[in-house]
Parts: sequence; structure tokens; C-alpha cells
Amino acid sequence: MDSNTTIMNQLPQFSSSRLTTPLVCVSLPGYDSPVWCKLEYLNPSGSTKDRIARYILTKAMRQGELSLGDVVVEASSGSTSIALALACAQLGLSFVAVMPEGVSNERVMIIRAYGADVELTPGADGIGGAIGRAQQLATERGAFWPQQFSNPDNANAHRYETAQEILSQIATDSVDLFVSGVGTGGTLVGVTQGLDDAGCDVTPILARPIDTGLMADVECSSFSGRIPGVVDGLSTIFASADLPNLKEIEVSDSEAIEVTRQLIRSGFPVGPSSGLNYLAAVRAIEQHPSPAPVAVTVFPDRMERYFSTELFANNPTTSNS
Ligand code: PMP
Repeated sequence: MDSNTTIMNQLPQFSSSRLTTPLVCVSLPGYDSPVWCKLEYLNPSGSTKDRIARYILTKAMRQGELSLGDVVVEASSGSTSIALALACAQLGLSFVAVMPEGVSNERVMIIRAYGADVELTPGADGIGGAIGRAQQLATERGAFWPQQFSNPDNANAHRYETAQEILSQIATDSVDLFVSGVGTGGTLVGVTQGLDDAGCDVTPILARPIDTGLMADVECSSFSGRIPGVVDGLSTIFASADLPNLKEIEVSDSEAIEVTRQLIRSGFPVGPSSGLNYLAAVRAIEQHPSPAPVAVTVFPDRMERYFSTELFANNPTTSNS
């Protein structure tokens, strides 16, 4: 047993058992097609990013690239930083989260509660500015930089863990459609690869949120900012992935938010990207040539992350109470 194995064994919460989230078949009123939904918001820090945080850090520790007390730095607008902050606290590592100004105060407070430091970069520079600063900090402090947008272990976490869980939980022989919005692309690329490894003839579906804006006469742009976590053009994981049968389904951001509210009222306390994914999955089923394709998607994170956003502010059922 090498010294890093010993370290891992001393951390009971990081024993060899994997994270597991439920897979449930959801059929909302008004939508005929049942969709298998992986409840990723039930991961310990509240999002699917616990999977990549744990996978990347424990692999680096096993390989001797990271040791107790080392510093980890990452750029993220939220979920990944929260997940890394928790994983670092559990693994005895220090963490610096670099985020663009404008992220919600709740996110900053959660990260600090896990004992991590937060550094805010100018909001105008967006996530790109935060990535640049994380790189600089990693060099200056000799810190470990997971680089979620380009690290193949992001997709591998989903290929070797999330996809295997789906296969062991689903009550069907195969999966025909896997649907996800793309942030880093790790979920869509990794789960598709894992299902493909297992012999499923799976079609990956990119759920694209379309900005319907508030003015009908303004041309709509793609990848609406109203669905946080789902962004265009940043991921080298997605850009370099070999997904020959990839399809895209467009969903208006307003509809995605309305379906998210419906999911919340149905007992799934999720954020806007879950509504996006669910609706894209329903449409992918409707457009599929065979009669009842098996579609799987993910509910990436929790509604509590969005109290200060439109999801709650414009909701007629909550604003009058
Ligand atoms: N939804 C939310 C809320 C997210 O935070 C993310 C990741 N940023 C995604 C969806 C997309 O996941 P991935 O990064 O694996 O593409």
C-alpha cells in the first residue's frame, strides 16, 4: 500500500464507494413521454459537479500529483467551485475559487462555509477572465488547477461513474437518447461514451437554450444566459469529442423556466437547466423514429442556488405570498 492509498483510507467519506443518485422516471402533467431523470442535485454539495471534483482530486492524489495541504485553484461561476470546496475540505486540501463578480452571494457564502477562499474577477471579463486569473494563480502558487473545461477526467467521471450508475439503475435493456445541456460538456460527452462502451446505440442530444428575450422584434441569440451553467463555446472537451450522431434540440429559455417551476411543484427542487433538459428530452422522444425510445437526462443542481434569480422573482405562485 503506497502512502497516497493510506491517505485515502484515512478519509472515511472518500472510501472506495461511489456517489450514487436516484434515477427516476418522470412524466409531468401535459407531457406524455416519460423521461428517466438522474437526480444529480442530490449529490452532497447539491450538484452533479461533486462527481468531477471527487474524481479529478482523488485521481491526482492517487497519482501523487496532490498531497495533503496542497492548494487547488479553479475558475467557475458556481457549482464546480462549490463541489471542489467541499471535496477539498474532505480531502485535507486548500481551495481558492476564482469567480466573476456578479455571482450570487449565496454561492460565495457556501464556498467560504466549506473553508475555501473566494477571489472575484471583474464581471465584465466574464468566465474567461476568471479562467485567466486561475491560470495565473496556479503558476504563482504552484497550485493544482483541475481545468474543468479541458480536463478529460471531467468526462471520464461521467463515463466511468454516472453512466455505469444509469445502466445499473434503469429498468430497460438499453438507452436510446441521452440529453443534456452543455457547460463544460463533461456530462454529455462522458455519459454518452459510457453508454456507448456498454453497447447502447445511444444518440446524444445537446439541449440548447434559446434566448427569447423580452422584445419580440429583436433577433433571438443562442445559448440564453437565463439558464445558468449552460454556456456556448468554452469547452474543448465538447469541441474535440467524437460524437458523430449528435443532435441538437432547441428550447426557449422561458419555457425551460416554466417547466422548472412545474418540476419544483412536482417534488424536484431543481434549477433552470433541469427544466431545459427535461423539455429537450420530451421533444427528442417525440422526434425519434421509433415509437417509445428510452430517454435519459440529468437534473444538475438545486433550486436554492437560484433564489435571487428570475426563477423565483417572476413566479406568480411565490411573489404574492
Ligand atoms: N447545468 C448546470 C446547473 C451546470 O452548472 C452545468 C455545468 N456548468 C451544466 C448544467 C452542464 O454540465 P457540464 O459542465 O457537464 O456540461
